[in-house]
Amino acid sequence: MDTTTSRLAHNYHPLPVVIDSAAGAWVTDVDGRRLLDMLSAYSAMNFGHGHPALVAAAQAQLARMTLVSRAFEHSLLERFAAALGDLVGKEMVIPMNTGAEAVETAIKVARKWAYEVKGVEQDAAEIIVMSGNFHGRTTTIVGFSDDPETRRDFGPFTPGFVLVPYGDAAALEAAITPRTAAVLLEPVQGEAGVVLTPEGYLRRVRELCTVHDVLMVADEVQSGLGRTGTTVACEAYDVVPDLYVLGKALGGGIVPVSAVVGDRRVLEVLRPGQHGSTFGGNPLACAVGLAVVDLLRSGEVQARAARLGERLRAALTPLVGNGLVELRALGLWAGLDVDPARGTGREVCEQLLRRGVLAKDTHGSTIRLSPPLTISEDDLEWGLARVAAVVAG
Ligand SMILES: *Cc1c(COP(=O)(O)O)cnc(C)c1O
Repeated sequence: MDTTTSRLAHNYHPLPVVIDSAAGAWVTDVDGRRLLDMLSAYSAMNFGHGHPALVAAAQAQLARMTLVSRAFEHSLLERFAAALGDLVGKEMVIPMNTGAEAVETAIKVARKWAYEVKGVEQDAAEIIVMSGNFHGRTTTIVGFSDDPETRRDFGPFTPGFVLVPYGDAAALEAAITPRTAAVLLEPVQGEAGVVLTPEGYLRRVRELCTVHDVLMVADEVQSGLGRTGTTVACEAYDVVPDLYVLGKALGGGIVPVSAVVGDRRVLEVLRPGQHGSTFGGNPLACAVGLAVVDLLRSGEVQARAARLGERLRAALTPLVGNGLVELRALGLWAGLDVDPARGTGREVCEQLLRRGVLAKDTHGSTIRLSPPLTISEDDLEWGLARVAAVVAG
């Protein structure tokens, strides 16, 4: 698309492809060319395009009822909250729409909990966040990003956030004060390039939060709902946070659905009139969200992601030192740091596109792979062979 004639604000720089339809792990562009989707809308499309159970749930609900607002109850709302809470082992749910809104909700809940329950002095609460974080695009959220591109020209920003290095438990411990309400972190940093933490780190974060009466808030908007081979990434590290922030795949790639999920002792600080959303928890969102939870209940999708993830690692590990500087992977999710001699991440993604594979670069030389968890083994191998061919040159 020519940016001088486009009527779209230029806040994205998409790869040169115009997609017209999609099914399963494949998309078709306006010229009829089929491409393998190895991004899955940043994990929002975890179950593949047009998953029959999700489409059926959405279609049935479209004809029945789509929105009544939270001024009234509707017949799916309690069921959705119970199903989602049970899936991750928590008592209460606040439904929202986008990931950023759910993060904002968690921030508000953590601050209110700090004042009401922990006894922090009014307006003094602090939330500790991590270097390399990505939690969305609202002004509050970009204000505590450490990425200059994300922040520049959008200030002034909301105070009350303290930044520490991701993966450094000693730095976190040193930053905790009696005013600390919460530690907000991604158990795996997706946008930063599938960045993983050192062995034992997340367990230590959990311990520090427990000892210092601080809420551990896990932003699992991208890492959650099967991607890591477990229902949530925290499970892969054997930790249980106080609050989960979920989004992306929760809407099945059909509607935006997000939620904060946590224990009653924390979420009950919100009372009528103190927080809300016109569309949050709407019947269509609940119908799709319930169908998503149904798909995850047996654990088969998660096990499949773990198994396919082993194939992914087996195919890509030999590239380290031969086109890749580093490979990070968990479940069916990988960050590939491309050797700058092979070109930028963008150039590699353009080459992949020419070979029929959709992937996305991040931060210059990193490529993120997150194919649908429903991808067939043959399609995955086909895509990985193309990645290997491009990366190894
Ligand atoms: C995508 C993302 C968000 C923001 O979600 P939106 O739906 O785009 O607002 C928040 N946190 C993480 C970890 C994400 O990956």
